[in-house]
Amino acid sequence: MDNFHQLLQGFHNFKQKYFLKEREYFESLEKSQNPKTLVVACCDSRVDPAILLHCKPGELFVIRNVAALIPSSDQADSPSAVMAAIEYGVKHLSVEHIVVLGHSRCGGIHGLMHPETICNEKYIWQWVSIAAPALDRLDDLTDDEPPEVRARHCEEGAVLLSLDNLLSYPWISSKVEEGSLKLHALYYDLGEGELYRFSPEKEDFLPLALKTPKKSTK
Ligand SMILES: [Zn+2]
Repeated sequence: MDNFHQLLQGFHNFKQKYFLKEREYFESLEKSQNPKTLVVACCDSRVDPAILLHCKPGELFVIRNVAALIPSSDQADSPSAVMAAIEYGVKHLSVEHIVVLGHSRCGGIHGLMHPETICNEKYIWQWVSIAAPALDRLDDLTDDEPPEVRARHCEEGAVLLSLDNLLSYPWISSKVEEGSLKLHALYYDLGEGELYRFSPEKEDFLPLALKTPKKSTK
């Protein structure tokens, strides 16, 4: 079976295991959606927010793009697919949380850090250039830091930049100020299988304190 036919089989499995077993839930979704959280994630096939955050259809309003970037109000072109989706999530669905989910080994951020690898790819280059200010964060590091540390610093910086860019839209910043909308920065480490959350107090991404309960040895 080739990959595409595997996908069709996958839908069959979804229908048997979820749709037909939870008819009431899916019938409610037919009438409306009421997600509380909007997630901006990377297109990367390894970083599916619904799987990583263990969510069902209807629970997350998801926007995916190269490197999980959000343009500032000065940068957003018209039409902007990203901003149209965020506007819909904020104004029509009244989401209570916006999460920007970055990740390790991000090809988009790698391109930003190594322009020679994408300089002939107009659309990728234009897009990842949104995150150019995140490169300034590399000034915090010494030149002898290994490439993966430098990449992580830049990947995390791009997530924080996107959160800042969100605040450049008055219809977002006003909701954040009144407390009806909360912004969150998450970072997923592919190798560790660990999720990090930005702490404004510590000014750093910290691993989630949630741990799998250890099995009793008794
Ligand atoms: Zn990525």
